Amino acid sequence: MKLEDHVRFVRGIGPKKAELLQKLGITTLEDAVQCYPRGYEDRTRIIPITELTDGEKQCIHAVVGAEPKTAHIRKGMDITHCKVFDESGSLSLRFFNNRYAAAALEVGQEYAFYGKVQAEGRGFVMIAPEFERIGLDCKTGRILPVYPLTAGLHQKDLYQVTDAALQAVPKNYPDFLPQAIREQQKLPPLGEALACIHRPQTLEQAQQARHRMVFEELFLLSCGMRFLRSRRAGKSGVRLRDLSLNAFYRALPFSLTGAQQRAIEACTMDIAAGKPLSRLVQGDVGSGKTMVAAALCYLAAKNGQQAVIMAPTELLAHQHMQTLEPLLHKLEISCGLLVGSLGAKQKREITQKIENGEISVVIGTHAVLSDNVNFHALAIAVVDEQHRFGVNQRASLTAKGENVHLLVMSATPIPRTLALLIYGDLDVSIIDELPPGRQKIKTYAVGEQTRPRIDRFIDSQCAEGGQVYVVCPLVEDSENMDTARNSAESTAERLAKVLPNRTVGLVHGRTKAAEKEQIMSDFADGKIDILVSTTVIEVGVDVPNATLMVVENGDCFGMSQLHQLRGRVGRGKRQSFCVFYGADRGEEARERLRTLVHTSDGFAIAQKDLEMRGAGDFFGTRQHGLPPMKMADLAGDTRLLEQAKQAADTLLEADPELETEPLLKEKVQKMFSQYGEGAFN
Ligand code: ADP
Ligand code: MG
Repeated sequence: MKLEDHVRFVRGIGPKKAELLQKLGITTLEDAVQCYPRGYEDRTRIIPITELTDGEKQCIHAVVGAEPKTAHIRKGMDITHCKVFDESGSLSLRFFNNRYAAAALEVGQEYAFYGKVQAEGRGFVMIAPEFERIGLDCKTGRILPVYPLTAGLHQKDLYQVTDAALQAVPKNYPDFLPQAIREQQKLPPLGEALACIHRPQTLEQAQQARHRMVFEELFLLSCGMRFLRSRRAGKSGVRLRDLSLNAFYRALPFSLTGAQQRAIEACTMDIAAGKPLSRLVQGDVGSGKTMVAAALCYLAAKNGQQAVIMAPTELLAHQHMQTLEPLLHKLEISCGLLVGSLGAKQKREITQKIENGEISVVIGTHAVLSDNVNFHALAIAVVDEQHRFGVNQRASLTAKGENVHLLVMSATPIPRTLALLIYGDLDVSIIDELPPGRQKIKTYAVGEQTRPRIDRFIDSQCAEGGQVYVVCPLVEDSENMDTARNSAESTAERLAKVLPNRTVGLVHGRTKAAEKEQIMSDFADGKIDILVSTTVIEVGVDVPNATLMVVENGDCFGMSQLHQLRGRVGRGKRQSFCVFYGADRGEEARERLRTLVHTSDGFAIAQKDLEMRGAGDFFGTRQHGLPPMKMADLAGDTRLLEQAKQAADTLLEADPELETEPLLKEKVQKMFSQYGEGAFN
């Protein structure tokens, strides 16, 4: 068979199994060869029964000593016991609902058994082992790959397709990794690596093959990111003649912090230099990033051009609209809101105004990326809370005009290497200063027993004229959840009951957009005292009168996420407070929450989060909109990532279009295109 052949033609795989394989992303043999094992079982070591280890999966060679006995325990549960022995001793095998085992095991025959060992009494039992007769095409004595599965598929099926796939790999299978890089990194060639990753002779071999696959993935990713960057470099940016900001500064209700001013200056200098601005503004929650965006929007409008701000949620887009509209209005600049939930007529109206240039500043969600949104003269594109968008969305936004200046804003601190990769195509300004008059938010980690006191505290904050956020991880109570996990719905009900003279609002992911907007604006106007929500308010929302943030089940959130939530309060002049429930949920939860009590530095918290959670999904690829990684762990494989990035940089420095490496180029394009359109268009 050939690599491009469909897997349904593999012996033993019919159309039904082919369909299941498709769920794993396997259609052709080529896909199969790229479906790597998720682990290996070492069956090369055969252990004498008396030297087994409790809790390990191990392999023994043993003779069946007596007829297997099956006992009917209850409806649907039969247990089969079978005594086996080797030269060192004996143990009992235990199978559940396995008639095949009961029938197949023959007294006096020797088998290899592989399964989980459990200490019991003075000896061991082996739970539901796999077994095979010694001598017959035996899998024991081998390193056995363990493939990802889906319901209805078995390891055997994946052995069959990967066997066929490996046979189809030609001897001189072309390797898209340049030879020089392979040699420098001491990586096996592709064909060999594939053979070793699927059918290793030793665990070291499997490890080496995995190493190559991880490197390869990180290298492709680095090449792709570098491609994106070079696409913009070397071009000139939209020219904006008038870069004076005096009128803008005068229109502001406050004076900007030094850090805000430095970020704005860095942007105007880039623009003045004739380059396309490509800058990341990174600053902790509440540091005032929006004003940097506002300054650039002002400049675009003042020069007869347009600007767009893209926010990750409608809520945030509305919020930006609320802050920026009055400011821009004062400066006689028109702005408009474009979000998915607008009616068809409204949408048509606004897109028309965008197209004929009547609106200078567009604030919206990814709805602005839609094909029928055409700008009259787009000069500035701002992406807010970048980690919610993909690099490809970033690219499609700037593609809405020619040589558009790009400003990216993020509050998510990430480790340096990862930042180099994700933001490798951007210059960076850091806003490391909060607006004046902010007080440190007093933070408490509490357990269930403190609830009555916290309820009274919520009440007293309202009595003093403040407002309260209560955030819950879930929308509604579900039957199979631990009842102590408080849902947004039940929390809102409970609070309305215990604090009858306070108004309670509820928003969650399923609340209709119009209703959500109403509730949020009621909260902003002070008509609602207590806003109960799921994490829809996690990013960006700004209600300066809110003085207390209560997070239910704080142990269900990541530390950086909790830090972001905390940033929702402490925006006004009054002392603000933050309460995390969950301190009674084990040592780890307590330690995480205590870190937040003691630190208010977002970077330090992110670092600690990384240390405690390892790779965790917080730093996962999806968060940052990178293509999904099959093998690499972006947070864990940082050294390799650095090497891969360096290799990619060197190569692309010499050959920016990868003309000498067509195979590699194709591979890079495929990696990014599978993930989404836009990146390389
Ligand atoms: P973030 O960086 O989290 O996006 P925002 O831009 O939403 O922060 O700003 C947070 C709050 O601080 C807003 O209420 C904003 O009006 C206010 N703010 C921003 N800059 C200043 C400043 N220089 N002085 C006082 N308040 C400011
Ligand atoms: Mg913001």
